[in-house]
Amino acid sequence: MEQADNWPVGTTILVILAHPDDPEFFLGGTIARWTTAGYQVKYGLLTKGERGISPDYPESQKLAEVRVEEQKNAAAVLGVHEVTFFDYQDGYLVPSLEVRREVTRLIRSVRPDIVVSCDPQNYFVSETYLNHPDHRAAGQVVVDAVFPAVSNPSFFPELIEEGYPAVRVSELWLSLPAQANVVLDVSEFWQRRAQALLEHKSQIGDPKKFLEHLKERRLESSDTEDRYTERFRRIIFRK
Ligand SMILES: [Zn+2]
Repeated sequence: MEQADNWPVGTTILVILAHPDDPEFFLGGTIARWTTAGYQVKYGLLTKGERGISPDYPESQKLAEVRVEEQKNAAAVLGVHEVTFFDYQDGYLVPSLEVRREVTRLIRSVRPDIVVSCDPQNYFVSETYLNHPDHRAAGQVVVDAVFPAVSNPSFFPELIEEGYPAVRVSELWLSLPAQANVVLDVSEFWQRRAQALLEHKSQIGDPKKFLEHLKERRLESSDTEDRYTERFRRIIFRK
């Protein structure tokens, strides 16, 4: 069967999510797979994660600085070397027109083939876990930017004056999907995802315990013991 992500080498993929560590948690294996395949992956993060709980950094300004560095390091482990940070308040993200304009500007400046975010419709991630409102807001704003703002020049005309003409993206991929239509087996990148997650030192507590927890989760989420998959809702736009 043909793989869902069989694109030409050099394909550009822009991953836009709410917090530092979201790319690695949601789709770290897939990102490693994509950079290994020769695709160019870039991140845009809407907050700096200053409300992530960390006993070591009680001051939110300091925590934001630390998390920016951790995110750059984690991205580098996965082969991603371009990360754009916005400064919306962690925990208070809403899918406003202002954020939509900023996301539209980012997409129009990067001109990616593929845009990736997360599913805004996923409220209940599991039996024991509610999705973070920022994740849903980020997903909503990216979906609304991709269609119709990014490709329609009459949306945010000031962006055209700034030098960002309308662009078209070919595909939108949403991680943490309420209903997946693509499942990628990224078992061979599980280790690299784990290494990247370990870079988020302020968030993971004791690294040894964290790794054990990650292994347990792998067993829970996969059909067979030794496999690891990541799931997506994929939309392919008509040319
Ligand atoms: Zn998050």
